[in-house]
Amino acid sequence: MDEFYKELSRYGTAEADQPLSKMTTLRIGGKAKYVIYPENEVSLDSVLRLCEKSGVPYKVIGKGSDLLCSDDPYDGVVIRLDRHFHHFYFDENVCTVQAGCSIIALAVQAMKNGLSGLEFASGIPGTVGGAIFMNAGAYKSSMAEILDEVQVLRDGKVEWMKADECEFGYRCSIFQKHPDWSIVGARMTLKPKDPKEISTLMEDRRNRRMASQPLDYPSCGSVFRNPEGMNAWQLIDGIGYRGKRCGDAMVSDKHCNFILNMGTATAEDYLKLCHEIQDKVEEKYQVRLHMEMEMFNWKQTV
Ligand SMILES: Cc1cc2nc3c(=O)[nH]c(=O)nc-3n(C[C@H](O)[C@H](O)[C@H](O)COP(=O)(O)OP(=O)(O)OC[C@H]3O[C@@H](n4cnc5c(N)ncnc54)[C@H](O)[C@@H]3O)c2cc1C
Repeated sequence: MDEFYKELSRYGTAEADQPLSKMTTLRIGGKAKYVIYPENEVSLDSVLRLCEKSGVPYKVIGKGSDLLCSDDPYDGVVIRLDRHFHHFYFDENVCTVQAGCSIIALAVQAMKNGLSGLEFASGIPGTVGGAIFMNAGAYKSSMAEILDEVQVLRDGKVEWMKADECEFGYRCSIFQKHPDWSIVGARMTLKPKDPKEISTLMEDRRNRRMASQPLDYPSCGSVFRNPEGMNAWQLIDGIGYRGKRCGDAMVSDKHCNFILNMGTATAEDYLKLCHEIQDKVEEKYQVRLHMEMEMFNWKQTV
């Protein structure tokens, strides 16, 4: 193993040459040269310092449920928080949580504690950190509405940022402008409510998702953002792309804004289908669809 890998291994469990296809819900992506699972803020900070000192690029990820990775190798470090940063604490109706915690697991615990506010997130397969980064949302609610503060590791310091400093908008936040900031935790205020009522609502939402979303094949959720006042799926349906296939990438026939990996889809196939959709929708409706998922490790801007 090389010297960098040896140094990296001092700060947590490290792995070499691991496919990003195993770290993303879409099951697409080339090999990452290094992967590390930091155990706490101190080890995360040490990893970041090592990367900066050595000039090695890095990427903090959660569950990889919003990423379209290229098929190319990634010559850097993927920093995964979902193994160790999963602790949470309830103090009456205030919840303090680490960034790698599954947002679904947290929603279930909040329900058991008779706390309402996270029901919208109970079907989003990401981490708290990824959900904050994207300002994930559903059913007209989003992370921005429940967060009080976000704990960030930036410039070697751990700091709390107030939610109103985070520039939350539709699927966006200040963190998208600062890829070198790591979200390490969050604090949110929930509302007391009968656990049975919360669980009924969560069950109802689960059933709606099962009925409307193709959850039996790998995907990264909605591919395109909804343009102002429109639904992306209707525009895709309107160009006749329901069920359209490019290699093993296929527009779901259940929900047109989901593009599925039917087996061994390549990133190229997937992107080709996305571009075709963007061009055809623009031609027919004069509206350019923008990706909701993030493109990661692409050599040129696409
Ligand atoms: C079946 C399915 C359904 C979905 N439904 C929804 C939905 O209803 N609503 C919705 O909004 N999204 C939905 N998504 C998309 C996705 O689950 C969310 O955007 C989720 O919040 C991403 O979290 P993640 O941990 O997987 O992030 P990742 O995909 O791992 O990362 C996404 C981005 O966040 C950054 N990031 C992650 N963690 C950190 C951190 N700790 N610090 C700094 N940056 C970080 C990464 O670098 C990357 O840029 C769905 C996806 C799937 C597969």
